[in-house]
Amino acid sequence: MTAEPINLHPSHHPLNPQTGARRVDVVVVGAGFGGMYATYRFREMGFRVQGFEAGGDVGGVWYWNRYPGARVDLPSIDYSFSFSPEIEQEWTWSEQFAAQPELLKYINFVADRLDLRRHIQFKTRVTRAVWDEARKLWTVTTDRGDTYEATYCIMATGPLSIPKDPEIPGIDRFKGQLLRAAKWPHQPVGFAGKRVGVIGTGSTGIQIVQEVGKEAGELFVFQRTPSFTMPMRNEVLEPDYVAEVKRNYASIRESARNSAVGGVRPQSTRAFFSVTPRQRQQLLEDAWKNGGLAMLGTFSDLLANPEANEHVAEFVRGKIGETVKDPVTAEKLKPRGYPIFARRPCLDSSYYETFNRPNVHLKDCIADPIVEITERGVKTQAGEVELDVLIFATGYDGLTGALLAFDIVGRDGRTMNEKWKDGARSHLGLMMEGFPNLFMTTGPNGPAALANIIRISEHDVDWIAAAMTHMEENGLSTIEPTAQAEQAWMDLVYALSQRTLLTKAKTWYVGANVKDKPQGLTLFTGGFLKYREHCAAAVQGGYRDFVFERAQQALAA
Ligand code: NAP
Repeated sequence: MTAEPINLHPSHHPLNPQTGARRVDVVVVGAGFGGMYATYRFREMGFRVQGFEAGGDVGGVWYWNRYPGARVDLPSIDYSFSFSPEIEQEWTWSEQFAAQPELLKYINFVADRLDLRRHIQFKTRVTRAVWDEARKLWTVTTDRGDTYEATYCIMATGPLSIPKDPEIPGIDRFKGQLLRAAKWPHQPVGFAGKRVGVIGTGSTGIQIVQEVGKEAGELFVFQRTPSFTMPMRNEVLEPDYVAEVKRNYASIRESARNSAVGGVRPQSTRAFFSVTPRQRQQLLEDAWKNGGLAMLGTFSDLLANPEANEHVAEFVRGKIGETVKDPVTAEKLKPRGYPIFARRPCLDSSYYETFNRPNVHLKDCIADPIVEITERGVKTQAGEVELDVLIFATGYDGLTGALLAFDIVGRDGRTMNEKWKDGARSHLGLMMEGFPNLFMTTGPNGPAALANIIRISEHDVDWIAAAMTHMEENGLSTIEPTAQAEQAWMDLVYALSQRTLLTKAKTWYVGANVKDKPQGLTLFTGGFLKYREHCAAAVQGGYRDFVFERAQQALAA
């Protein structure tokens, strides 16, 4: 990996002497997968592009999440860029589910290979973006005091980029080492002989617990809601397999793009009750043995039929009971009261086994809630747990957090906070009425979180690129969805959400983990393929869902 770039004041963009701002065609906010591809794509189209990234380098969540055990839970083959056949051939994945260091290495390889860094200002947050109605452009300000003017503004801010501390008093009092999964130190952290506490048992907490449990003197796992986790069954990829994949990348990508999840994963058209109880049991056993997200793909109706869902939940509870030796701990680890898969299904290599270790203790925060953080550790109703290290794996202000973290001011001075005060609204998860030329990748009301984020990012950037091309070719200065189109999309998103069990759990998907956040599933649940079809239809109909303004209507910028 190259040394972290600073690149604070790129001077190659012309300065507007009247406003003191630098003039570009496209501002891209964020340099994760979406922002990297956007920067590349728009540069290749001949646009002057300026990217901004709060992190010290490219990578988004994979830049920040350096905690022990961090690993992707989709196959690496799928979880990689598809836009460059050269990069597909040049890069070789070592494991079926790559760990964070390998992912970051890949991301850096892509950034180097495409020479992306010179377009991106790192360690810089955008603080404000204001639509200039007279000049038909966005004025973007950063926390370094720089101002840029851009025709197009791309929010590639990601669905999981604003980490959330737990709402527990006393956090600042803790005198030990406080670590946040999503802001993990760049230097290795040692746990040997230490008393370590982990708060949070979602995908992140589970990955941390199974790693830190091996090393810590004592590990206390503070669990409020247990998650369902299934075996990942990670494997080293054999050279023959990799060669076969490289020969077939084009068709692998095509299948991924035409699937509901944007990836090559087991999927079935078989309904749960269409086969005998014995066959069902066998299919679930096979899926458990195969690992990955095979279980979710075993039957077609697991997110629609509560009875089928409960059978699968009970199957997993049975596995927990078989694995965890202490029956009281096993019982506490068994999730109840919400459908399996309604929270993000987790994959592990030894999570339940970790609780058989004598140094690992489960603290049930439902039976014995956390009261406060003290100087020495975590105080629950029953007493204080003294700790040397406390780790927060307490999730994110998902989907909307990053977009509401700074001021975005659209037409007529209306802010995004005002527009979204009752919940995130968008058309296709890509644009918003009242915010011309402002695009989102993996935005709210798209399929983000429910399908492969890289496939969605590439799709969204390509859609935006096509819209820009349409505008440039037709002398158009602005694009914006109509209020009717946006409302129709929101109605569809809502109607589809009522057919799934995803609304039946308190998760970041529905905003339940953030105090005072409007509640509701702001995700398109119709699947990635259907989503692509909707986005394509919006274009094929001559952009009938959108209004444009002609370039001559804008004053010279
Ligand atoms: P999360 O799923 O939102 O889990 C946060 C955890 O913190 C929950 O267990 C929550 O309990 C707990 N928590 C929050 N406040 C608490 C409090 N005051 N007291 C006790 N517990 C508290 O967040 P995450 O684990 O970071 O995962 C977020 C998403 O990131 C995942 O859904 C996934 O999409 C992604 N992710 C993916 C991978 C991967 O690819 N392998 C790895 C990590 C993350 P409650 O549920 O009771 O609120």
